[in-house]
Amino acid sequence: MDMKDAPLIGKDALDREVRDLSVIPWWGLERKTVEWYPRIDPDKCSGCGVCFITCGRRVYDWDQETDRSVVTHPYNCQVACTTCANLCPSKAIEFPSVDEAHHAAAKAQVVKKAYQKTKHIRNKDKDRPLND
Ligand code: SF4
Ligand code: SF4
Repeated sequence: MDMKDAPLIGKDALDREVRDLSVIPWWGLERKTVEWYPRIDPDKCSGCGVCFITCGRRVYDWDQETDRSVVTHPYNCQVACTTCANLCPSKAIEFPSVDEAHHAAAKAQVVKKAYQKTKHIRNKDKDRPLND
């Protein structure tokens, strides 16, 4: 299932569509069996809104009572992505250990599947100069 086909479950504070991406399996695993999503440390968060604005998967919404971003759809998060944490100016966003992602990847046989999916394009340009 593509993201655009996931069920529409509402709109966020900026009137952007929110879809339930948790129904899309991750490499064959049920998304909700993989504990990968952000947590905001409220003591560090300045409420800048960067995470809310930049995450395209609508993991965040805006809490108008606290005037802060809030994680509303954790399982919409792309497994192993940490973009919002990398952009947060206050270093207020935490993720599980990357071991969680590696464990899920091993269980889903991601390496084997990636190899199979790219097998037909491998060695295609093997004679091309490296600096081309
Ligand atoms: S990017 Fe960081 S500081 Fe800004 S709203 Fe999100 S968690 Fe808070
Ligand atoms: S890690 Fe990526 S997908 Fe997950 S909430 Fe942050 S920006 Fe969105």
